[in-house]
Parts: sequence; structure tokens; C-alpha cells
Amino acid sequence: MEAASPEDRRERLKVVYAEASGCVRCPLAATRTTVVFGSGHADAGLMFVGEAPGAQEDKTGLPFVGQAGKLLDRLLGEVGLARHEVFIANVVKCRPPQNRDPHPNEIEACRDYLVRQVELIQPLVVCSLGNFATKLLRGDPTGITRVHGQPEVRSLGAAAFRLYPLFHPAAALYTPATLEILRADFQRIPALLKLEPAPPPPPPTSREPALDEAATGPPPRAATGGASGPEATGGAAGPRPVAHAPRPDGVEVPTPAEASAPAEASAPAEAPAPAEDPAPEAGAPEAPAEAQPSAGGPPSGEDDERPPQLDLF
Ligand code: SF4
Repeated sequence: MEAASPEDRRERLKVVYAEASGCVRCPLAATRTTVVFGSGHADAGLMFVGEAPGAQEDKTGLPFVGQAGKLLDRLLGEVGLARHEVFIANVVKCRPPQNRDPHPNEIEACRDYLVRQVELIQPLVVCSLGNFATKLLRGDPTGITRVHGQPEVRSLGAAAFRLYPLFHPAAALYTPATLEILRADFQRIPALLKLEPAPPPPPPTSREPALDEAATGPPPRAATGGASGPEATGGAAGPRPVAHAPRPDGVEVPTPAEASAPAEASAPAEAPAPAEDPAPEAGAPEAPAEAQPSAGGPPSGEDDERPPQLDLF
């Protein structure tokens, strides 16, 4: 993969954000209020990928702003991490009406943004939250119940990383058993972050299609991007902060000032629990974003027309 400094990758991420902010690639553009690009650290070692924005997110332009986001923050805190140290995005950047599941054409249309986010942020570990993100990033229809808590080396576009599927926090809100599983899976994240970076995937062969190809999308935007097998390496490296750490390309982390607001101040949470997999979490009560109280952002119900935010650190 092309080596670029964190500063350069951060600037390029802002360009992608600007492009996405006016996106009309899929029908969700007609019903959204705000494109929810994602927020967090532009050089994060840990990235979360959820499903889709809910009502609060659509309004604020920030991902995971609600009860599920509060839970995500709490779980992060339990393993010594904070929201501003990670990057949080979704499979689709615009809210599906009534929090319905995103349609395949919408996921496909939006996929390129996620590819570019992962390529530019270069996370060591990507946690897919729930079925939609897990199936997309694994290029496989296996449901989250079967694969949660099982790290494996994967790639997306030109980026290789350890994919770590987790239940969606929204699925754990009202199901204590799911919450305990999610909490236990979270406990392994710090150890995963200490592993050596995922090795680059082998070039795809005609018999082993690349993850990108298998996942319905067009060919990778850049460089190679083959699907890689299950977790292969486990050699522990020295402790490595989630963010603010020198990256393999040897540059340090940016923390510029354009960040609109500290992530902790922007309320987290997103909404929809996965529904397409007949898994326990799918039966969990979904937390309609409309019903979710705000957790630090504009008070619930407040008609605060904030501009789209990148909330980039
Ligand atoms: S969901 Fe993605 S592809 Fe569709 S309009 Fe929004 S940003 Fe564009």
C-alpha cells in the first residue's frame, strides 16, 4: 500500500468527507438530513463499523449518538479507551427511512466511502458491529452469532487489518446475555491492538476471489485487496496505543484544530440492530433512534440544525 504520512492521509480523508457530504449516489440521499460520514481519530489503530445512522445521527451528522453509542463509550472505557482515540463509521452514511435495513444497492453504492476510510485511516483492528458490517467486511453471509469474538486477518481495498466482529451495541441494550457476550469480546481488544500489523494479503487468484469481489463490490480502488484467511499471526508486539502512535510509515499523529467538537462532547450512538440474521441479537428489541435520548449532543428534540460534521481528530 502506498505509504503516506498521517497528515496526508488525514487531509485526504477530509476530501472524501467533502465528497460524501453531497453524495447522491443512492436513494437514501433523498430522505436523509445529513450525511453521517464518521468521526474520531484520523490515525486510529481501532475502527468500528456499524450499520447505518439513525434519527439522532441524521440530525447531528455524528455516528452513534444515542443509547447504543453511550453503551459503546462505556465498553470502550472498560478497556481503557476513549471515543476520540478510535474512528467510528457505518456501512451506509445516510439514514434509511424509519431505520429500515439498508438495501443491497445502497450498501453497494456507499461501499467505496468505507473502503477509502479504511485505506486512509489504516486501522490495525476493525470491529464490525452487527450483521451488516460483518457480512460486508467478511464477504460472507455468516451471521454475527457464529463469528463474533473471532479475529481474523482481512482486507478491504488496499488495507489489511484484523477484523473483529462484535454484536451491535443496540442488540445488547435490552438483552443482558448479549451484553455480557459483547463485554467479554471487548475485553480482547487491547490484546489485539498489541499484535503486529496484519500482514498484507496475498494477491488474489482466479480460484480465490478477492474479498472486494466477493462482497459484491467493484474491484478495489487501489492496489491489491485479496481476502485473507483466518487469523494467522499472533506474535505479540510491544504495547501500542490505539492512536497517537507512530504508524508503520513512521509518522506521528495529527490532532489539528479543525475538529469541530471533542468526541466525548458529541453524543454517541446509532440505532438499528441487525435484523437479517436469525441470530439472538436480531430478536433483540431495536432501539429506534427517534426514541433514543441524546447523550451529550443537542438535547433530544432540540431543533439544532448543526452542519454536517467530520469531528476529526
Ligand atoms: S448512503 Fe452513501 S451512497 Fe447513499 S447517498 Fe448516502 S453517502 Fe451516498
